[in-house]
Amino acid sequence: MTQTLPSLAQEAWLNEPRLQRLFAVLSETGGEGRVAGGAVRNALLGVAIADIDIATTLTPQQVMLACRAAGFAVHPTGIDHGTVTVVVERQPFEVTSLRQDVATDGRHAQVAFTSDWMTDALRRDFTMNALYCDAHGKLYDYTNGYRDLLARRINFVGDAAARIREDYLRILRFFRFHARFGEGRPDERGLAACVALKTGIAGLSAERIRQELLKLLEAPGAVPTLMVMAESGILAEIIPFTEQFAVLERLPRDGILRLAVLAAEPEQLKSRLRLANEEAARIMSALNMPDVAPDMAAHEQRVLLYARGAQAWEDGVDISWALSGAALDDGGWRALRDLPERWITPRMPVTGQDLVGLGFPPGPLMGRTLRRLEQYWLDHDFAPTRRELLALAKEGKDG
Ligand code: ATP
Ligand code: MG
Repeated sequence: MTQTLPSLAQEAWLNEPRLQRLFAVLSETGGEGRVAGGAVRNALLGVAIADIDIATTLTPQQVMLACRAAGFAVHPTGIDHGTVTVVVERQPFEVTSLRQDVATDGRHAQVAFTSDWMTDALRRDFTMNALYCDAHGKLYDYTNGYRDLLARRINFVGDAAARIREDYLRILRFFRFHARFGEGRPDERGLAACVALKTGIAGLSAERIRQELLKLLEAPGAVPTLMVMAESGILAEIIPFTEQFAVLERLPRDGILRLAVLAAEPEQLKSRLRLANEEAARIMSALNMPDVAPDMAAHEQRVLLYARGAQAWEDGVDISWALSGAALDDGGWRALRDLPERWITPRMPVTGQDLVGLGFPPGPLMGRTLRRLEQYWLDHDFAPTRRELLALAKEGKDG
């Protein structure tokens, strides 16, 4: 049965003048542009729209010529698969020519451009990601995506196994979208195909896995979805994991923080997922934080926050809080977590430069003295002034 499709004609983002100017340029060039994929899906679900992707009947060359002639900046950001970024008054849009994936190897595709909308819809991953909306808000649904969207069902376009063999990343995307938009158990046929083909995940690049995994961890339904992935053997193909699902569920929806708790071999994450240096460092700092609790003395709290920094503090409190089982609206834990907002970490008032000024020779004595002064300053709850500390330093030098 076909659904009556709603109209998006009244949507503010669709009527935005820059988007409408882009549509006009594409149609004046003899083509058509429609919003495709995530933006249409999100608008229909009533959730925030991240970025607006345009699909067009024009070829990338035609898009570039027409948009440059219209005075828009154009960047061939993904020209190999038909995508150019068009910037209309500082607003970027990804414009992708309708295409078909002709040769695939499980990771990359060779593409052929087409002017047929249905063909473009059939190369997309899931039915709810294959919806289009034209400049006037009219919807186009070639795969029963609206039906699945209403049922909150992540449904592969066409044969699930065949679509996964074209690109194994679709396994991760299946769970990522389920965690974000799905309801109940994942679609059984899709799940069965993912399980049967799970070993294909190993051939994917670290960057692509990383991106999908972080998005999955940030989704509202992340934890029940991860549990399905764990019991079906799929999660083990992605990373060695701990079974701390109840703890994960209690953590804020922060991908890196959740990854720290999920990973069984956190020191391997950096190379396994090609994390940025800061991300890998953040994970190790979070895991190296001592267990904390609201009954910790205020002075100890300040010393620990000073030593580890605000990020490690917040992550460490989040993990301890999640492990404790205390209510997530507990005022004591909240106050502990928010200490960096109430107390600005002071800077050690004396530096090596000051000691040089006092005539300290460079070398071990200077380092030892600095550490001793800092310890004194910490033991006295950051109260000693620069003058007091310098006086202490002199004693140490002469005595
Ligand atoms: P998000 O809001 O998370 O960005 P999205 O739907 O925009 O969601 P993207 O990863 O940005 O997701 O992809 C944009 C669209 O491109 C998808 O909606 C889908 O139609 C198509 N797509 C992306 N990756 C694939 C893939 N690996 N296989 C098939 N189609 C894909
Ligand atoms: Mg997107």
